[in-house]
Amino acid sequence: MVLEKLGSSLYEAIRKVIRAPVVDADLVKELIKDFQRALLQADVNVKLVMELSQSIEKRALDEELPPGISRREHVIKVVYDELTRFVGEKPVPLTIQPGRQNVLMLVGIQGSGKTTQAAKLARYFQKRGLRPALVCADAFRPGAYDQLRQLAESVNVDFYGDQGNKDPAAIARDGVRKFRGHEAVIIDTSGRHKEEKSLILEMQQIAAAITPQEIILVLDGTIGQQAAAQAAAFNAATDIGSIIVAKLDGSARGGGALSSVAATGAPIKFIGTGEKIEDLESFDPGRFIGRLLGMGDIESLVSKVKEAEVEVTEKDVYALLSGKFTIADMYQQFEAVRKMGPLQKIISMIPGLGYQLPQADLDVAEERLDRWKYIIESMTVEEREDPKVLNASRMRRIARGSGTEEREVRELIKQYNAMRKMLRQLKGRRRMLRRMPFKLG
Ligand code: GDP
Ligand code: MG
Repeated sequence: MVLEKLGSSLYEAIRKVIRAPVVDADLVKELIKDFQRALLQADVNVKLVMELSQSIEKRALDEELPPGISRREHVIKVVYDELTRFVGEKPVPLTIQPGRQNVLMLVGIQGSGKTTQAAKLARYFQKRGLRPALVCADAFRPGAYDQLRQLAESVNVDFYGDQGNKDPAAIARDGVRKFRGHEAVIIDTSGRHKEEKSLILEMQQIAAAITPQEIILVLDGTIGQQAAAQAAAFNAATDIGSIIVAKLDGSARGGGALSSVAATGAPIKFIGTGEKIEDLESFDPGRFIGRLLGMGDIESLVSKVKEAEVEVTEKDVYALLSGKFTIADMYQQFEAVRKMGPLQKIISMIPGLGYQLPQADLDVAEERLDRWKYIIESMTVEEREDPKVLNASRMRRIARGSGTEEREVRELIKQYNAMRKMLRQLKGRRRMLRRMPFKLG
């Protein structure tokens, strides 16, 4: 299968770097060649492959090595970075505005997984306390209406369709009108036509009739090669705002997704990981590339290099230890820490403390910070200053307003409490700071 092949040929290329006795310019050049071959075979656009390999080569050879990092580790990190950038660098959440109608239109060819993902999305919003509705604008396939209606019923989501009407644009418009008071109106469309031109025309007509906030392309994650062509065709017809790659469960590694992102410029926001209605995951480029490269531990290698790249100054440490500590402060601190590196590193620079935070507390990945930002932005000033007031209903409101889950809001508060406690302890032991390898204040 093409994508598995892409994954495994990238993996083989990386393995060569791992096993090579020396990592020098020749090896890097060989790696680049392997890479180009793997990507081109997977139908990734030639220009993109060239850009990608140029930046990998340049960075791998020219960049200065952070202390304690070998050329080998550096090269792998560069490959990982550049590939991740290629699929979208950071997770981009699907945001809708609560309290008003947001229309989302799903497009994609027959069998790609539109109807299933439509129901999954409805469930996703429902779980976040938003009011979704499903509209069947597939007037082509006989079973389409019943399929979506049953899915909608199974999760108690409002449904609209009209089996007597053969005009999908009209059905979509009626559905949008009917569900004025719903926050996420999800329009499922047809994917089968005698010819591509008529399919494209139909998508344009529906889009014109309902002016959706976002058009979401659903791609079958197992198709590999064709993903780019499909994505490009739909993108030429309508303005694709985001992508869901379905069927990324089981053995599919989803290499085709690489090309589809490049073909549309639209971010992947979700992946479908099974036939059940709960099988929808937010897309995380870093994790995806790690999986594609077939290396479970690439993440720890990447964070090792990131850590080494960081320089911590006494000012940073002092800033962390001084001042009142509110949730807003915590966010600022973390943003600063993100710029300068993992908290553990700063703390380990304080001799005699040997503080060891639980790894979970330190794991402040960038994407998590971004979600925290949404959460904190949904808090009132009072809540930020005095998190004790955050009861269950406030947390629910915050999760809803920020498009996150209550679990994440609770995590943030837990993290806040842990940090506050740690900082209090550290402050109490300030004397020790005099023994630090640098001057304070
Ligand atoms: P549509 O024609 O684009 O509307 O596609 P459907 O939603 O009807 O899905 C086609 C088939 O793919 C169905 O058998 C679904 O159960 C299956 N399917 C959809 N999404 C997933 C997924 O994420 N994983 C798996 N394994 N199957 C899926
Ligand atoms: Mg369908």
